[in-house]
Amino acid sequence: MKTVSSLLDKEWYDRYKRISTLNIRSSIYDVTNRCNLRCKGCFFFSSGEHQVEEEMDVKKWEDFIDQEKGRGVNLAILIGGEPTLCMDRVEAFYKRLPTYCATNGLIKIDRKKLPDLMVGISLWGGGEDEKILRGRDTFAISSKNYAGDPYTYYLYTITPRQVGKIEPVIKQIVDAGLKVHLQLLSNDESVDGFSWQTSELKDLRHEMDEMLDKYPRTMISSKYYHEVITTGMMMGRRFGWNECPSVTESMDNRKPQPRRLIHFFRWAADLKTVHRCCTSATRDCSTCKDGAAHMSWIMVNKREHMKSTEDLKNWIEVYEMFAKLYSFIPW
Ligand code: SF4
Ligand code: SF4
Repeated sequence: MKTVSSLLDKEWYDRYKRISTLNIRSSIYDVTNRCNLRCKGCFFFSSGEHQVEEEMDVKKWEDFIDQEKGRGVNLAILIGGEPTLCMDRVEAFYKRLPTYCATNGLIKIDRKKLPDLMVGISLWGGGEDEKILRGRDTFAISSKNYAGDPYTYYLYTITPRQVGKIEPVIKQIVDAGLKVHLQLLSNDESVDGFSWQTSELKDLRHEMDEMLDKYPRTMISSKYYHEVITTGMMMGRRFGWNECPSVTESMDNRKPQPRRLIHFFRWAADLKTVHRCCTSATRDCSTCKDGAAHMSWIMVNKREHMKSTEDLKNWIEVYEMFAKLYSFIPW
């Protein structure tokens, strides 16, 4: 059997060693059911996942987070709704666990209270797409709120209409002194013109690769990730329900069980309900383009990437990308 050390030279082996001890155990938390936007295609609202009674007592949140820490969670991924509408809850997580906060960036977090909280700002394209899908050009506001912030990046969700037009958006992000990570829209509300065609995905893969070559200090990405997310294929296997690693442990009745995130849960804002997975409970898995689920899919399948040096390097790059995005290693 091939071993890691036999496949890698010293530089890559050192990179491997740096990530191999991280032992990331993430779970996802809906911090609130409310949002200051209502984007078309928002998986949270389109799947009705907001229809639980939100826990309002911050003490209950604190106790819950302590329990989660006791369960072995070492990465809290905060989503919503819009988490920054409930800063006391965000702070409760931050004080107890390594925490990442997804936000639309309309509200500026207080860096005096949360100096190194990793913030991922959602962005759905250029100004015109954002107006169609989200009702306003959020970049104009979020880029002012977070310009130059060393613990912030844009999570740029590319839509089919953006193919061929990504560069101006990346340039704006460069100018704001921020980083960017790309993922793809999963058109959960079937908005006309926003579903993917195979040829668009092919073109997009090349465009993503080109952007990474051109803006390596701004793009937090890897070409292998581009390949897997645009093709939905990894090592001859197709992404979908039978392969997805990001399924809540207590709802995972798949047989045989695929490699999955250990003890992963996605909790609703009532702190009792769990959702099926890291994204929409009503999404058809065969059309799912969730970026984190694809990254995790690669990460939990290390053994399959030990067939060759190139495969293992690809795996390391994706792991490093994830570790950077969630602040386990520096950019
Ligand atoms: S900002 Fe995020 S949570 Fe709010 S509606 Fe848009 S996608 Fe949904
Ligand atoms: S919708 Fe996506 S993330 Fe959720 S279970 Fe299906 S494949 Fe996994």
